Amino acid sequence: MEGFELNLSDAMCLGASLALSGICYYMYRKSRTTVEDIDKAPHFTIDRKLKDILTVTQGASLQYAVVEGVVKPEGEPLKSDFHKEISGVLQKFLLREHRLVWNDYSRRWTDDERVLHEKVNMTPFFLVGSDKTAVKVLSPLQASGRYTEVIYEKFHQHNSGLADLVGQYISGQKPKGHLEIEEMLKVGTTLTGVGELILDIDGTLNLRPPSNGSKYFLTLGDFDTLRGEKESEVFCWKTLAVTFALAGAAVLVWVGLRYYRCLQVRWEQEKERREFERLQTEAPRQLVTVGPEAVGDNHTDNICVICLTQPRNCILLDCGHVCCCYTCYQALPQRKCPICRQRINRVVPIYHT
Ligand SMILES: [Zn+2]
Ligand SMILES: [Zn+2]
Repeated sequence: MEGFELNLSDAMCLGASLALSGICYYMYRKSRTTVEDIDKAPHFTIDRKLKDILTVTQGASLQYAVVEGVVKPEGEPLKSDFHKEISGVLQKFLLREHRLVWNDYSRRWTDDERVLHEKVNMTPFFLVGSDKTAVKVLSPLQASGRYTEVIYEKFHQHNSGLADLVGQYISGQKPKGHLEIEEMLKVGTTLTGVGELILDIDGTLNLRPPSNGSKYFLTLGDFDTLRGEKESEVFCWKTLAVTFALAGAAVLVWVGLRYYRCLQVRWEQEKERREFERLQTEAPRQLVTVGPEAVGDNHTDNICVICLTQPRNCILLDCGHVCCCYTCYQALPQRKCPICRQRINRVVPIYHT
């Protein structure tokens, strides 16, 4: 519509909020499905009965089940690099650099970090039940959840000399130091696993990533803690999806209001134009005589001061100026007389006699 335009910032806000709402809704659906899946998964105690159950189950496998057991290595356990007394089955070593980076947009130094080195060591392990029955955990690195604990963490401060400082201001990067972390899944820890349980032909019980696409979990907490975490993820994605959808709706309402205001102005202009035309047709009865002081004697003086082509055919009230044609009057950005800037309350046609 003429006079109304959807500006770029409105379109961007609308597009961004709808896209973000869509992404959050997708994540919400995904996390909801995960919670429903783990809710449906049966819980088993690791003991001889579990082997019996799997022996009589079709395919000797349970597609999605929850088990809890104590971590035990198959062979020799791994030793911690920093605490020799700690042994585990899965060891992660991380070296992370912390630095300040100059941001040209915000004109300030902002915190930044990057991984300089990451190393994972692993040895095959079991989850052992009360009667020494063991379930071998396969592909633990594919599992979600927190299954390692930090056993060593040290920050090495970076000391800068004067020459370094000059270099840092030129490069826009100030190193703060290095953080060294060692995480381990310790022997003897109680671990909850959610995945596919399968009985091998050699009689070994295995826990592995589910083949039906459900999520594989290994966690140090119990099942309820895991469920609680997943439930809060669902709530978080849902809240974000609703918030972005509301933001999109607010932008739509704002654009709609602007469109409505433009429509209102058009309706008023149309009403005024009809009134103007009615007055023009009723000319013989409502004759307005314009004197030479208002219109001027020659043709040039009678030309609209705005378009310089049409004759002046209206009188602006209350100031009484006769300076423009009706088309130009309607195109005025504000209802103010172009000559004296007084507010225009009414417009009537003029007739030359
Ligand atoms: Zn004009
Ligand atoms: Zn005026």
